[in-house]
Amino acid sequence: MTELTQDASELTIKEFQEGIHEGKIEGYRCTNCGHQQIDIMEFCPVCHSAKLEKVEFSHFGSVVTYTIQLVAPEQFMNEVPYAWAIIQLDDGPKITGWIPFISRPEDLPIGQRVVFKKSYLPGIVFEKGKTGD
Ligand SMILES: [Zn+2]
Repeated sequence: MTELTQDASELTIKEFQEGIHEGKIEGYRCTNCGHQQIDIMEFCPVCHSAKLEKVEFSHFGSVVTYTIQLVAPEQFMNEVPYAWAIIQLDDGPKITGWIPFISRPEDLPIGQRVVFKKSYLPGIVFEKGKTGD
Protein backbone atom coordinates (compact mmCIF):
# COMPACT_ATOMS: atom_id res chain seq x y z
CA MET A 1 0.00 0.00 0.00
CA THR A 2 1.43 3.36 -1.03
CA GLU A 3 0.07 6.89 -1.22
CA LEU A 4 1.99 7.55 -4.43
CA THR A 5 -0.35 5.67 -6.73
CA GLN A 6 -3.47 7.53 -5.60
CA ASP A 7 -5.42 8.93 -8.53
CA ALA A 8 -8.54 11.05 -8.81
CA SER A 9 -10.99 8.15 -8.71
CA GLU A 10 -9.46 6.80 -5.50
CA LEU A 11 -9.79 10.24 -3.94
CA THR A 12 -13.44 10.27 -4.91
CA ILE A 13 -13.98 6.91 -3.27
CA LYS A 14 -12.20 8.32 -0.22
CA GLU A 15 -14.57 11.32 -0.24
CA PHE A 16 -17.53 8.98 -0.50
CA GLN A 17 -16.20 6.92 2.40
CA GLU A 18 -15.70 10.06 4.46
CA GLY A 19 -19.32 10.96 3.78
CA ILE A 20 -20.36 7.50 4.95
CA HIS A 21 -18.39 7.90 8.15
CA GLU A 22 -20.09 11.26 8.71
CA GLY A 23 -23.45 9.57 8.25
CA LYS A 24 -24.22 10.66 4.69
CA ILE A 25 -24.90 8.61 1.57
CA GLU A 26 -23.84 10.88 -1.26
CA GLY A 27 -24.19 10.38 -4.98
CA TYR A 28 -25.20 12.05 -8.20
CA ARG A 29 -28.46 12.86 -9.90
CA CYS A 30 -28.97 13.77 -13.54
CA THR A 31 -31.12 16.91 -13.59
CA ASN A 32 -32.21 16.09 -17.14
CA CYS A 33 -33.71 12.58 -16.74
CA GLY A 34 -33.52 11.97 -13.01
CA HIS A 35 -31.11 9.02 -13.17
CA GLN A 36 -29.33 8.56 -9.82
CA GLN A 37 -26.23 6.64 -8.86
CA ILE A 38 -23.59 6.47 -6.16
CA ASP A 39 -20.58 6.20 -8.46
CA ILE A 40 -19.11 9.39 -9.82
CA MET A 41 -20.24 10.14 -13.37
CA GLU A 42 -19.18 12.77 -15.87
CA PHE A 43 -22.11 12.12 -18.14
CA CYS A 44 -25.42 10.49 -17.39
CA PRO A 45 -25.28 6.86 -18.64
CA VAL A 46 -28.97 7.03 -19.55
CA CYS A 47 -29.40 10.32 -21.45
CA HIS A 48 -25.73 11.44 -21.78
CA SER A 49 -26.47 14.81 -20.23
CA ALA A 50 -23.66 16.51 -18.33
CA LYS A 51 -26.14 18.28 -16.03
CA LEU A 52 -25.39 16.40 -12.86
CA GLU A 53 -25.81 17.45 -9.27
CA LYS A 54 -24.39 16.01 -6.09
CA VAL A 55 -27.14 14.83 -3.79
CA GLU A 56 -27.58 13.12 -0.45
CA PHE A 57 -29.82 10.07 -0.53
CA SER A 58 -32.32 8.70 1.95
CA HIS A 59 -31.04 6.52 4.78
CA PHE A 60 -33.97 4.17 4.38
CA GLY A 61 -34.36 1.31 1.96
CA SER A 62 -35.39 -2.26 1.34
CA VAL A 63 -33.34 -5.41 0.83
CA VAL A 64 -33.39 -6.53 -2.82
CA THR A 65 -31.09 -9.53 -2.50
CA TYR A 66 -28.15 -10.65 -0.40
CA THR A 67 -25.71 -13.41 0.41
CA ILE A 68 -24.77 -14.45 3.92
CA GLN A 69 -21.05 -14.29 4.61
CA LEU A 70 -19.78 -16.74 7.18
CA VAL A 71 -16.15 -16.21 6.28
CA ALA A 72 -15.04 -12.62 5.90
CA PRO A 73 -12.08 -10.58 4.74
CA GLU A 74 -9.82 -9.35 7.54
CA GLN A 75 -11.54 -5.99 8.10
CA PHE A 76 -14.90 -7.70 8.67
CA MET A 77 -13.58 -10.59 10.74
CA ASN A 78 -15.27 -9.47 13.97
CA GLU A 79 -18.58 -8.95 12.22
CA VAL A 80 -19.38 -12.41 10.83
CA PRO A 81 -21.89 -13.69 10.11
CA TYR A 82 -23.34 -10.83 8.12
CA ALA A 83 -25.39 -10.25 4.99
CA TRP A 84 -23.75 -8.66 1.96
CA ALA A 85 -26.81 -7.01 0.47
CA ILE A 86 -28.14 -4.93 -2.37
CA ILE A 87 -30.38 -2.25 -0.91
CA GLN A 88 -32.89 -0.21 -2.89
CA LEU A 89 -32.84 3.24 -1.30
CA ASP A 90 -36.25 4.88 -0.97
CA ASP A 91 -35.32 7.94 -3.00
CA GLY A 92 -32.10 6.79 -4.58
CA PRO A 93 -30.32 4.06 -6.49
CA LYS A 94 -29.55 0.52 -5.46
CA ILE A 95 -26.39 0.30 -3.39
CA THR A 96 -24.30 -2.48 -1.94
CA GLY A 97 -23.93 -2.60 1.80
CA TRP A 98 -23.87 -5.05 4.64
CA ILE A 99 -26.01 -5.93 7.62
CA PRO A 100 -24.33 -7.44 10.70
CA PHE A 101 -25.64 -10.38 12.71
CA ILE A 102 -27.47 -12.19 9.91
CA SER A 103 -26.78 -15.91 9.97
CA ARG A 104 -29.86 -17.49 8.38
CA PRO A 105 -32.23 -16.49 5.54
CA GLU A 106 -35.00 -16.32 8.18
CA ASP A 107 -33.14 -13.40 9.75
CA LEU A 108 -33.53 -11.23 6.68
CA PRO A 109 -36.56 -11.59 4.40
CA ILE A 110 -36.30 -10.05 0.94
CA GLY A 111 -37.96 -6.63 1.14
CA GLN A 112 -36.87 -6.17 4.78
CA ARG A 113 -36.82 -2.47 5.70
CA VAL A 114 -33.34 -1.32 6.60
CA VAL A 115 -31.76 1.92 7.71
CA PHE A 116 -28.25 3.19 7.10
CA LYS A 117 -26.18 3.22 10.24
CA LYS A 118 -23.34 5.66 10.75
CA SER A 119 -20.34 3.52 11.60
CA TYR A 120 -16.59 3.47 11.92
CA LEU A 121 -16.61 0.14 10.10
CA PRO A 122 -15.61 -0.11 6.43
CA GLY A 123 -18.29 -0.20 3.77
CA ILE A 124 -21.88 0.89 4.12
CA VAL A 125 -23.57 -0.59 7.16
CA PHE A 126 -27.33 -1.05 7.42
CA GLU A 127 -29.46 -2.41 10.21
CA LYS A 128 -32.97 -3.75 10.24
CA GLY A 129 -35.45 -0.90 10.60
CA LYS A 130 -38.99 -0.69 11.79
CA THR A 131 -41.71 -0.99 9.18
CA GLY A 132 -42.90 2.39 7.98
CA ASP A 133 -39.80 4.28 9.11
ZN1 LIG B 1 -29.86 11.57 -17.54
